[in-house]
Amino acid sequence: MDTILVTGGAGFIGSHLCETLLRQGRRVVLFDNFNDFYSPEIKMANLEAVCRTAAETEGHLTVLRGDLRSPGDLRRAFLALGSSDKSAVVHLAAMAGVRPSIENPLLYNEVNVTGTLNLLEECRRSGVKRLAFASSSSVYGNNEKVPFSETDPVDLPISPYAATKKAGELLCHNYHHLYGLSVACLRFFTVYGPRQRPDLAIHKFTRLISENRPLPFFGDGSTRRDYTYVTDTLQGVTGALRWLEKAKRPVYEIFNLGESRTVDLSTLVRLLGEAMGREPELSRLPMQPGDVLCTFADIAKARKMLAYAPEVAIEEGIERFVEWFRGNGEE
Ligand code: NAD
Repeated sequence: MDTILVTGGAGFIGSHLCETLLRQGRRVVLFDNFNDFYSPEIKMANLEAVCRTAAETEGHLTVLRGDLRSPGDLRRAFLALGSSDKSAVVHLAAMAGVRPSIENPLLYNEVNVTGTLNLLEECRRSGVKRLAFASSSSVYGNNEKVPFSETDPVDLPISPYAATKKAGELLCHNYHHLYGLSVACLRFFTVYGPRQRPDLAIHKFTRLISENRPLPFFGDGSTRRDYTYVTDTLQGVTGALRWLEKAKRPVYEIFNLGESRTVDLSTLVRLLGEAMGREPELSRLPMQPGDVLCTFADIAKARKMLAYAPEVAIEEGIERFVEWFRGNGEE
């Protein structure tokens, strides 16, 4: 049976991924430092959900608390992973978020760049040959050509976070070239759904609407995002694992994982208001430094090579998110 090490497994995307992998009958090693970027209690609740799925599926789950910045912690994780032909790593652990990266660029560098390099070193030492790396649409900066294609230049990031994600892609390419590591760099486009990080717009706005408080509304409402429902992102990640498994020689590719549909901020707020049955009140603020104007994924490559086929349109995804929010007792 194949084993997958999921770094950041207690986070939003990571906890869903661990459950999906367990349902597919794979062994999972969950690695996370449960940091306080947002409440560690939320991460413990995510972990409980993963443990429940492991019990239901009679799956094999190993949970390790550890930090990417500690080579010793990573060594323990790779020992638990083993180096069978079928083992692989999905590297999701990171300091996420554009705005906080401007406040604390050194921390973002330590975790996202040095931490990723520590992980790549452990892949080399232990002989693990497959890695899916969570990159981000933010690497495109203020790319004017839409939709964004993997071949577009990404040399002008506009936040430390974006620069660390691009650095991660470059380091992955080093290890592919030097040591034959097969890598899929997955550029996620604003992922949302149940358990979404509380700092991200959809979750934050929903909470504020439920409390009848004004929403911080940056800019004139024309900024656009390609919002991706989490089950679609997971479909892309598992497609990438299959693609890595099938490769007959070492491979390295970058894939956009978005919906290929872009929604402006005013429309997003309207949809949230409709789903919540309330008129959102806005607190208008200037654009934030580091925020890009638009994200819009060209997903032709992922469709063709990973059989990626996103299914959840924003209207339905927002309904599902609000349903989860209410059921989760947050209202
Ligand atoms: P998240 O913050 O919920 O998950 C990240 C997890 O990594 C957390 O549980 C955290 O505790 C863990 N972590 C952080 N630093 C660590 C360290 N030093 N050692 C070990 N664990 C550590 O974030 P998410 O939204 O699930 O994002 C997952 C990945 O996807 C991240 O790499 C993020 O940059 C990337 N991404 C996310 C989005 C999105 O919209 N959510 C978009 C683009 C890219």
